[in-house]
Amino acid sequence: MNYQQIIRNVYSDILQKENKGKVPDYIPEIACIDESKFGVNFTDLDLNTFGCGDFEEKFSIQSISKVFALSFVYEKLGEKLWERVDVEPSGNAFNSLIQLEADHGIPRNPFINAGALVICDILLEISENPKEELLHFIRDLSEDHQIFFNEKVASSEMENSFRNAAMCNFMKSFGNIKNQPDAVIELYCHLCSIEMTCKQLSNSFLYLANGGKKPSSNKQFLSYSKAKRINAILLTCGFYDESGEFSFLVGLPGKSGVGGGIVAILPQKYCIAVWSPRLNEKGNSYRGMKFLEEFTTQTGESIF
Ligand code: GLU
Repeated sequence: MNYQQIIRNVYSDILQKENKGKVPDYIPEIACIDESKFGVNFTDLDLNTFGCGDFEEKFSIQSISKVFALSFVYEKLGEKLWERVDVEPSGNAFNSLIQLEADHGIPRNPFINAGALVICDILLEISENPKEELLHFIRDLSEDHQIFFNEKVASSEMENSFRNAAMCNFMKSFGNIKNQPDAVIELYCHLCSIEMTCKQLSNSFLYLANGGKKPSSNKQFLSYSKAKRINAILLTCGFYDESGEFSFLVGLPGKSGVGGGIVAILPQKYCIAVWSPRLNEKGNSYRGMKFLEEFTTQTGESIF
């Protein structure tokens, strides 16, 4: 399979088509991004890697970082984690409050905001320096020390975190947040502010394509069973309430973020990251979805 050729062809094809969607305006630091940015990077388990366009430019990975936080906490806490967060698709927007009441403060899954806030609360409980430990974990996974929080994005989001604050307080009223909501939100906003390139992302997610183990070092970050389960949640919950559509069109587990990034994984084969800031109305990168749909169509490979 000549992945490189297929990626080049699909990239130039998508580039010529109209770029639709909007950049999110609720995080001012992200609203001013250049909307024409478009990058793709592919890395396989033999560590062949190549990219197109803006694949070496850093962007705000936003919700993609929820996968790293989940991996870190799941490895430390084990199956007890699922007492505080469920594994069902929400069928609602990522920042929706309505299900929390009916579900007694237990978020539907770790990738909606409420779920990630619970993961951050657990991080505060199990770690002395959660920000540093998390960054260390991500740098280890990426084998790259040039990964940082963007303090401006974190503060910009903290100043506009009214919905996240509402969710956090609401879950605290059910006893599912143990720390002070402000501390949880501060950690959550830092998690969202992490910046990475498509190249760093496609390399760092290889552990999920390889049963929890980084192929370069053979270091086991997660057990096979935990990696399998995270991939399952990515498939069913990785794209807000468009997860069914992504699975239908692309056929790979993955995760998107409102910074315009998408990471997708073909287990036992590769990981691919795409970045294009304009989002469709469900909050997923318009070009990112188009690119991956065409990519799996042309390769004829998916998990199905
Ligand atoms: N920082 C964003 C928020 O909490 C993350 C959203 C996302 O990427 O899904 O609204």
